[in-house]
Amino acid sequence: MAIEFAFVFPLKNGMHARPASRLQDVANAYRSRITFINRHTGASANSKSTLSLVASVTHQGDRCTLIVEGEDEKAAYEGMQRFLTEEFPGCDEELVIPVAAPGAPRDLPRALKGEQLRVETGAPVSKGIARAPAAVLSRRTLEPPPGGWPRGTDDDEVARANGALRDAQAKMREQISSTPPGVEQAILKAHLSIAGDPDFAARVEEAIRLRHCSAGEALLETSSRYAETLARSGSTYLQERVLDIQDVTSQLVAALYGTVPAEVQVHITADAICIADNLAPSQLIALDKRHVKGLVLAHGGMTSHTVILARAFGIPCITGIPDIHRTIPPGEDVIVDADRGLVIRTPSAQAARFYARETDKQERMKTKLRRFAGLPGISADGKRLEIAANAASPEEVAAAMAHGAEGIGLFRTEMLFMDRKEPPDEEEQYRIYEQVAKSAGGKPVIIRTLDIGGDKPIPYLHLPPEENPFLGYRAIRLYAEYPQLINAQLRAILRASGSGNLKVMFPMVCSVQEVRTLKQRLQELMRGLDAEGATYNRQIPIGIMVEIPSVAFLIDQLSREVDFFSIGSNDLTQYFLAADRANTKVSHLYTPFHPSFLRLLKQIIDEVHRHKKWVGLCGEMGGNPLAVPLFLGFGIDEISLAPSLIPAVKEALHRCAVPECEALVASVVQMESPESVEGALKEYASSQRGGALITGGLVHLCSASTSKEEAIRELVDLLHGEGRVDDPDLVEDAVWAREETYPTGMGFGVAIPHCKSPHVTVNSIAVLKLDAPVAWKMPDQDPVHFLILIAISSAAKGDQHLKIIAGLARKLMHEEFRQQLMDATSSQTIVRLFEQHLSA
Ligand code: PEP
Ligand code: MG
Repeated sequence: MAIEFAFVFPLKNGMHARPASRLQDVANAYRSRITFINRHTGASANSKSTLSLVASVTHQGDRCTLIVEGEDEKAAYEGMQRFLTEEFPGCDEELVIPVAAPGAPRDLPRALKGEQLRVETGAPVSKGIARAPAAVLSRRTLEPPPGGWPRGTDDDEVARANGALRDAQAKMREQISSTPPGVEQAILKAHLSIAGDPDFAARVEEAIRLRHCSAGEALLETSSRYAETLARSGSTYLQERVLDIQDVTSQLVAALYGTVPAEVQVHITADAICIADNLAPSQLIALDKRHVKGLVLAHGGMTSHTVILARAFGIPCITGIPDIHRTIPPGEDVIVDADRGLVIRTPSAQAARFYARETDKQERMKTKLRRFAGLPGISADGKRLEIAANAASPEEVAAAMAHGAEGIGLFRTEMLFMDRKEPPDEEEQYRIYEQVAKSAGGKPVIIRTLDIGGDKPIPYLHLPPEENPFLGYRAIRLYAEYPQLINAQLRAILRASGSGNLKVMFPMVCSVQEVRTLKQRLQELMRGLDAEGATYNRQIPIGIMVEIPSVAFLIDQLSREVDFFSIGSNDLTQYFLAADRANTKVSHLYTPFHPSFLRLLKQIIDEVHRHKKWVGLCGEMGGNPLAVPLFLGFGIDEISLAPSLIPAVKEALHRCAVPECEALVASVVQMESPESVEGALKEYASSQRGGALITGGLVHLCSASTSKEEAIRELVDLLHGEGRVDDPDLVEDAVWAREETYPTGMGFGVAIPHCKSPHVTVNSIAVLKLDAPVAWKMPDQDPVHFLILIAISSAAKGDQHLKIIAGLARKLMHEEFRQQLMDATSSQTIVRLFEQHLSA
C-alpha cells in the first residue's frame, strides 16, 4: 500500500539541478519507488532521477505529492518527509559564484564618447579587460551525419547506448579525479549526474524500442525532449541547463561513434578573444585557457555553466549580444571591456590607448598587492601578526600558500563529510590530512574536528529535527553518540601529524569538562596507535575554538588544559549578540564592530596572554582590512582568513603602528554604536594611507592624453591606481559635474579640475603634464597642458578643498611658482613644491 505526502513546492528558483540531485540522493537511500507528482501541471517524475525531477518543471507554490511504495515504504516516507520539510527549503542556492553579481552594461567611458567607435553591448558576466584578435568558435550541432548512423537490432542498439553511457561516465569520473575541487569539478559532477541518470537511460531505451532507431538518434531525441521541456519552462535558470544536456549528449555521441557529428571544433593556439553563439562547458574546459583572453557569447545567460567556468578561470566574459558570432569576422582586432559590457571592434588609437592604460592600471594594482603576499605579516613598527588562511581541501591549502599564507589557521573538515552518502573512512582522511600537511610545507596547520549540525547538516547521520539547531546538537556534542566517526577522524589526524606541523582544534566547546573528555579520548587513541607501532606527534598541540561566550569567562581554567585558543568570530558574534548569523532580518544586529563585542575580544585576548597561551581569530572578521588596526591593538597572535584576502590584509597591517592602534582600541571600546566604531576605523584607514595629499605615484609628467576627457580620466586613474578612490567612474562624473558648471582653466596653460565625492577615500592631489596641450572648452583661453586635480572625500570636514583651491590659484598667479612647476622634471620635485606650498 502506497503512502502519500502532500506539500507546496518551496523553492524560489523552482526544481533546478541542485535541489533535484539532493532529492535524488535522499530517495536513493531507500528501496521503495518514490514518485514525485506536480499536481499543478500533472507532470510525474521518478524521484531517483535528477533529470526527470528537473523536467517536471515545478515552480514555487505548485502543489506536489510524493508517493512512496515498496518494502521499506514507512522508513522512506519518514525520511523523505523529514528531508522535504527541514532541509529541502534550504537547497535553493546555486553554484557559488566567486565574483560580484553581473550588472547591466555601462556606457562607453566618457573619454571615448566623442570617438567614432563600433561597439557591441551585452551583459558583463565575468569582469576584466582584454584585447586580442577574434577567434570565432562553432557550436557543436547535434545532427546525425548525412545518411544517418548504422543501425543494428534493437537489443544491439540498447547495448551500444548503455555502453556509451558507461564509457562517458568513466571518462567524466577520470576527469573529475584529476580536477581539483572547485567550480570546474562541480560542473563535471553535474554532467556525470546527467550521464548516470536512470530516467535518461530509460528514455533512450524506450526510443530505440518504439522507433527502432539507432542509439545515436535515440540519444538526440531524448536530449531534445528534455531541451524542449526546459525551454518551455519559463525559467531562465532551467533554460540555461539545456546547454548542459546537449553538452553531455554530444559527449555520448562521441563515445558511440568516435566523433561528434557535424562539429567544427576550433582549437586556439594563440591569444584570442573567443566569440561564439554559445559554448558548451566541456568545450571551454578543452580550450587552452592560457590563450583565451576573453569570451563573447550571443547566448549564455548569467548562470550557465560556461559563464560560471569563465569566472572561475578569470576570463573576462560578455553574453547576450545577438548574432555576435556572425557579426565579428575571425581575426578582427577586438577589445572586451567586461567591466562595462562593451565589445569594441577595431579600436581607434585613442580607445586602444585608453584600454592599454586601464589594463596597465589594473595590473599595477594587482602587482602592488601581490608584492605584499610574499612579505611577512608585520606592522610598520615591526610587530609580528601571523596572517594565516582558512581552507577546506588540500588544493585550497596549496592556493593559500601561493597567496602568502603563513599557516592554516582553520582547516574546516566538515566539507569532507558533506555531499556524499557515507563518511570518509580513516584511511581516506589520513591521506587528505597528510596532503594538507605536505602542501603547507612545514607551516602550522590547525585541523578542526568535525563541526556538523547547526547550519551544516549531514543526511546520512539522520540527525533529529531541532527547534533551534544553532543551540542544539552540533559539533563536539555529537561525538559521544558517534564514536566511530570522531575516532576515525582523530586517528587520521594523529597519523598525519608525523608529516608536518599539525595541531588539532575542537569546535563549540563550552566547559572544562568537555575538554577533559576530549583529551581522554585522544589519549586512548594514542595508546591504540602506540600498540600498533604507528608514528605520530605525541606532543601534537591541542586547542579549542572560542565561539561560545561561556569560554570567555573560563580562560584561566581552560589554559591549564589546552595549548592554544582560536576565536570563531562568526559564532561568537551570533551567540553573544543573540543575532542569527544567517538571518538577513537581523543582519543589522549581527556585527563584530559592536563596542560590547570588541570589549569581549579584548578581554579574551588579554586573559589568554595573562596565562601565557597563544590566541588567534578565524571568523570572517579576520578578512576585513578595516579591522586590522584592532587586531594589532589587541595584540592577538594570529588571524586566519580567506586566501584571496591575504595580500590586502597584509598591506593594511604594514601601514599600522602599535601605539596608534592601541589608542584606537582604547577609544572604540568606549563608543556607543557599531556605526561610530566603523566611522573611526575608516577615518584611521584614510589617515594612515599617508596624511600626504600628494605622493610621487600621483604625478605623471609625460602624458600622451590628447583631449580634456582623456586627461581627466588619466588623473582619476592615478588616484585609483594608488587606492585613493573606490569607484573611478563615479569620481570622474563628479569632476565633470563641476567642470560643466564652470570650466576650471586658470590661464597660463594650467587647469585645476576638482571634486568632492563619497568615492574619494583619501583626500588627494594628482598632477598631469601633457606632451601636447588640449582645449579646455573656454573659447577665450589658451589650451591647457598642466593639470592639477584636487579630490576630496565627502567625509572631510569643513571647506578644506576650497581653501586648497583658493591657495593654489593665488600661488599660480606667481610666475616663479608656475615656472618651477613647469620646469620640474621629476615627480619628487613636484611633490616637494606642493608640500612647501601646502605647509605655507
Ligand atoms: C566561527 O564560528 O567563527 C568559525 C570560524 O567557524 P564556522 O564559521 O565554521 O562556524
Ligand atoms: Mg563556528
